[in-house]
Amino acid sequence: MDMLINGTAAMAADETWIEVNNPATGEYIDKVPRGSKEDVNAAVEAADAAFGAWSQKTTRDRGLILCRAAELIRRDHKDLARLLTREQGKPIRESTDEVRGCANILEYYASIAGQPDGEAISLGKAGDCLVTRVPLGVCAAIIPWNMPVIIMGWKVGPALLAGNTLVLKPSSSTPLTNLTIAGLLQEAGLPAGVLNVVTGPGDTTGTALVQHPRVKKISFTGDCATGRRIREMAQDHIRTLTLELGGSDPMIVMADADIPNAVEGALRGRFYNAGQICTAVKRLYLHEKIAEEFISLLTAKVEGLTIGNGLLPGTDMGPLNSAEQLGRISSVVSETTGREEGTIRTGGCPLTGPGFEKGFFFKPTLITDVAPDAALLRNEVFGPVLPVMTVPDLGAAIREANHSKYGLGASVWTKDLSTVKQVFREVNAGIIWVNRHLTVPPEVPFGGTNESGIGRENGFKALDSYTQSKTLYLGW
Ligand code: NAD
Repeated sequence: MDMLINGTAAMAADETWIEVNNPATGEYIDKVPRGSKEDVNAAVEAADAAFGAWSQKTTRDRGLILCRAAELIRRDHKDLARLLTREQGKPIRESTDEVRGCANILEYYASIAGQPDGEAISLGKAGDCLVTRVPLGVCAAIIPWNMPVIIMGWKVGPALLAGNTLVLKPSSSTPLTNLTIAGLLQEAGLPAGVLNVVTGPGDTTGTALVQHPRVKKISFTGDCATGRRIREMAQDHIRTLTLELGGSDPMIVMADADIPNAVEGALRGRFYNAGQICTAVKRLYLHEKIAEEFISLLTAKVEGLTIGNGLLPGTDMGPLNSAEQLGRISSVVSETTGREEGTIRTGGCPLTGPGFEKGFFFKPTLITDVAPDAALLRNEVFGPVLPVMTVPDLGAAIREANHSKYGLGASVWTKDLSTVKQVFREVNAGIIWVNRHLTVPPEVPFGGTNESGIGRENGFKALDSYTQSKTLYLGW
């Protein structure tokens, strides 16, 4: 059994393929197999067969392979970044950050191999207990298209270090960089069957993986609706779930904030990756004293962004990832204005004309005068559209921030510690940033509350989630 169930391994059960095209130009890049249920079964069997030997290795040996893979990713980072930009659309600078970020995550997990991961409990005359952590078995990782390389690292690093084997299903619009990195893990010494990649649509390949009885854990990142379906399907068998779902992160800027810094934070927070990030700034709440100045500065910055093919030097924002994405974002904006739920300050429509004919480009957009119950505040808007609201005080900002079914991230921009304290205590979110937004280093646990999901990626918490405790009771 080849480690990779992919195009080069020619494992497709039939002759149908999924084409991968560049969202900036429409250029055909490559094709991957439309995986079948049989491909999923073969991948799970390969992972199951590899589990015994892999789980018996020391964590140090497993960590060394992750460390070598990180070196290989760094060696090839230019090619990987180009491939990621071609299939996903983001500017090459962002792809380079993401590829390096994946190497950092694998290296981080390698670095914690050998850390104490159990406990001893003394029961006096009744004996002693030794509590160890053991891997779960075959795990499934299901990946979205927006940050496919980082999210691959978030799942592969802890799952493999803990001694599990993995079947990974990439998104159909961005499978190529995931497959190439899987190849580098193989080159780094990963034994056959430890990591298997199955390409194919979510409703067939993904469903077959989620429903497979031998899969012990599912780690899914994607849309809330898909997460709910997966949770229902997963109930047929006993297994653990990590669900990293959508978000509608609020950014609160108080009157005492460093305004130029906060303007940069809002610009990057919303328009990085064309706004297609779960923890992007999706609602901006400005204290009324600084609102006008802030909006003017931010509008000028947004209008200064260079939009285009991510491969071209100097591009600040690339296209959306697909025609569906472009359609969704266009509808959200036209419905908002059609219902008079906001006023377009800048942007508001797709970018057309020379250079943009075949791509899915949308102008970076600011919307002001937003109605309190506007749909774009209540649902996740996964693109370059930022609603901007004015609030009279911190209490109002916190009430509005919490008026959401999500709870992924939030940020407050201030110099006042008591403001930070109040936001940290009262805002519902898995992470609260102060004077920044978006950054999630590998050692920092990351995940949401409410509809944003269950479980945590990153750090020891993710490693823990790929293990279960096993106790030796010594009744002396
Ligand atoms: P999506 O749910 O459409 O797809 C994600 C993955 O799930 C893809 O690989 C897809 O093929 C697969 N899939 C789809 N239906 C499936 C099914 N029935 N069974 C099994 N697998 C299935 O999401 P997307 O559009 O690729 O990604 C965007 C969403 O992801 C946004 O909502 C975003 O907020 C969220 N996201 C969350 C995080 C986080 O960490 N919280 C990070 C990135 C993206």
